[in-house]
Amino acid sequence: IDADARREELERRFAALTPPSLLHIGGEQVEAASGARFACVSPRDGRVVAHVAEGDAADIDRAVAAARRAFESGVWSGLHPRERRAVLQRLARLVERHAEELALLESVDMGKPFTDALAVDLRVTVQCLDFYAEAADKMYDEVAPTGPDVLATVTREPLGVVGAVVPWNFPLMMAAWKLAPALAAGNAVVLKPAEQSPLSALRLAELAVEAGVPAGILNVVPGHGPTAGAALGRHPGVDAITFTGSGEVGRLFMRYSAESNLKQVSLELGGKSPQIVMPDAPDLAAVARSVATGIFFNQGEVCSAGSRLLVHRSVREELLALVLEETRRTVVGDPLDPRTRVGALVEEEHLRRVLGHVRGALEDGASLLTGGERTLTETGGCYMTPTVFDRVDPGMRIARQEVFGPVLSVIDFDDPEEAVRIANGTEYGLAAAVWTRDLSTAHRMSRAVRAGTVWVNCFDDSDITVPFGGYAQSGFGRDKSLHALDKYTQFKTTWIKL
Ligand code: NAD
Repeated sequence: IDADARREELERRFAALTPPSLLHIGGEQVEAASGARFACVSPRDGRVVAHVAEGDAADIDRAVAAARRAFESGVWSGLHPRERRAVLQRLARLVERHAEELALLESVDMGKPFTDALAVDLRVTVQCLDFYAEAADKMYDEVAPTGPDVLATVTREPLGVVGAVVPWNFPLMMAAWKLAPALAAGNAVVLKPAEQSPLSALRLAELAVEAGVPAGILNVVPGHGPTAGAALGRHPGVDAITFTGSGEVGRLFMRYSAESNLKQVSLELGGKSPQIVMPDAPDLAAVARSVATGIFFNQGEVCSAGSRLLVHRSVREELLALVLEETRRTVVGDPLDPRTRVGALVEEEHLRRVLGHVRGALEDGASLLTGGERTLTETGGCYMTPTVFDRVDPGMRIARQEVFGPVLSVIDFDDPEEAVRIANGTEYGLAAAVWTRDLSTAHRMSRAVRAGTVWVNCFDDSDITVPFGGYAQSGFGRDKSLHALDKYTQFKTTWIKL
């Protein structure tokens, strides 16, 4: 395809769209109670692409009340599970049909390459909706082995009203990971998307109405964290919060819960994932490609980004040369251009934060091999060059703090124990990778590394069938797989004396 023609076509299509801009409460599209709106600025070129109704505590109140009414009425939880399955499958088909439009909203709203939005975010979102739709009518309950005089059943019931608060890096996919299992299990949901990226979630809410999700069962209220987010976290009518975002805000949700109604809280937080390369790693060229994608995909704005390359001293020179080659080949540019591998960072403030981490690394004595700069300033967008730091000491800030940008730190090691020690040496424990040909090394290291996911000889590979989430301060509770249903259900014991 002609890349320029494709980019222009996507630009025209976006210009012809009217991005959704109203809150979804109780099956209706409404203005915020205050009448306020906030500007959605595209990091692609700094232009305002929509003015979205700005929800605050009053709107969260309305949404929770609508969700509660809908939940209690039984219009959703009282359906035959097969009917819930059918509705969610219809939603999956609608998302599939509107995939390009949703990918376009996502890409312009938060800066990720359109190509990736379509190939990853939308594909995974559809898979996720289908997976939990299918699960809806296949959840069996239990009869406990209590002996002949008793019949004790253990049944799963929905929690009621689930508040979902999600970040801007995979807006639609994160929303789907939360709301698909919550809805499949029969709950009502109030979703608060990140203020940087509300558009795709609002469009999803429109599609949910079209699919037949009853009024009040899925409410979407964009707004800022300290107002709308906090109101949801503190609301006495919310039974559970499912959160993905920073550790700092995760802690706030624990506090909101403690200070309100002890609602359940599950947290998917940050990471500082190591890629450990052993001397017998298979095919260093493949490792280098995976290292580059592992940190530069989605501009490095990925909780599981492979931000630390832990490399055995014997292969470091060879691998580093290959990684640098891959890095310099990585095209930064307009998210709508099919040649682009690294799009725009989400907003000015975040770009400044990431460049601050770069300065900090230089101050701490790390050696900058490539990148580290703002680029494409003439576009008005938030772009930076893919960055590699060498001679990083595990104690440096750049080796410990989550950057959430396209910045790789290279750390050398001499033996496997040292590698594991460094890998486990941060407050996080979300993901890790081990590259080795040796079966025992692979098993030993994947056991020793404290992380929710350990990849062996690959990175970022995944599927909806496996759980995703963190150890340590990367959070608790799991998204994806059948285990995610545990977050949205509670067990009831019914003890019948015979
Ligand atoms: P963030 O914590 O700032 O924001 C996440 C959400 O919380 C947003 O919707 C925001 O509006 C809301 N929020 C902000 N302040 C709030 C407050 N005071 N009270 C209530 N709600 C508030 O995170 P972010 O910058 O949007 O996202 C980046 C972070 O998310 C990174 O740390 C990243 O690692 C993490 N993340 C984790 C995963 C995972 O699955 N573990 C996935 C994606 C992102």
